[in-house]
Amino acid sequence: MKKILTVISIFIIFIFAFLIFEKVFPSEVYVIKSIFSSNHKNNFPVSESYYEEKYTNLNELIKNGAEINNSLMLINSEHPLPKDYSPDLVDLGDIYINSCAEQAYKNLSQEIKNSFNNSLYIMSAFRTLDEQIEILESGNEYAASADSSEHLSGLALDVYVKHYAGMGFLDSEEGQFVNSICHDYGFIIRYPYYGEHITKIPYEPWHIRYVGLPHSKIIAENNLTLEEYIESFIPNKIYYYENYFISRGKADSLLIPKGFSDITISPDNTGYYIITGKH
Ligand SMILES: [Zn+2]
Repeated sequence: MKKILTVISIFIIFIFAFLIFEKVFPSEVYVIKSIFSSNHKNNFPVSESYYEEKYTNLNELIKNGAEINNSLMLINSEHPLPKDYSPDLVDLGDIYINSCAEQAYKNLSQEIKNSFNNSLYIMSAFRTLDEQIEILESGNEYAASADSSEHLSGLALDVYVKHYAGMGFLDSEEGQFVNSICHDYGFIIRYPYYGEHITKIPYEPWHIRYVGLPHSKIIAENNLTLEEYIESFIPNKIYYYENYFISRGKADSLLIPKGFSDITISPDNTGYYIITGKH
């Protein structure tokens, strides 16, 4: 009898300890991973209000110092770029890229330098609409129409190392490395081998697309395409991943948790804005 009581008390103590631990260290990472890998469309993890939440709007966030960029714009044949779109570009030596991707690209190419003592080059990044039309007419790119190419945004970079470009990029150690770690730097393989049925574009191991952290990590860890990822967010729910939060809403009604700084806003090109914050 005494033994049974001891076992029961240990069990109860264990349950209490677990509950307290969960309260103090909520397993957000685990939640986002496990649910993504099952049926993410219907079960995207939803905030359990670990933080107090408040409604705000685009103007207020910008007034309070939030950074606005285009990093999470979904660009495809169903969501071409708006006619008046003009990206904020930086010159990397006759190659222009979207300014929000600059630091991430520098970090990624530095990593290639450190790991392989080799240089990562950009074959093509930002292109004007006229240049894009010319490329499509020459049959050198898969895109339904010129205005659905990510290259117009400067967020997509076609990268290579000497002697290894295009599909051949994967024959180099550097190419394999870029494909396996670019998500740690804020980039995704935009047209992955597993997503052809969704992107409608064949695998392009050389075309990396900046989306920023932690989005690139979530997309890669869950084998998603950008299409699936953006559509997974239920408007005005807050999602937590590591020390980040993500929410998606309309410009005049954005839900964010209190106490987060480093807020970045990007339109998603489907009528919503995606807010990312860090603490
Ligand atoms: Zn490309």
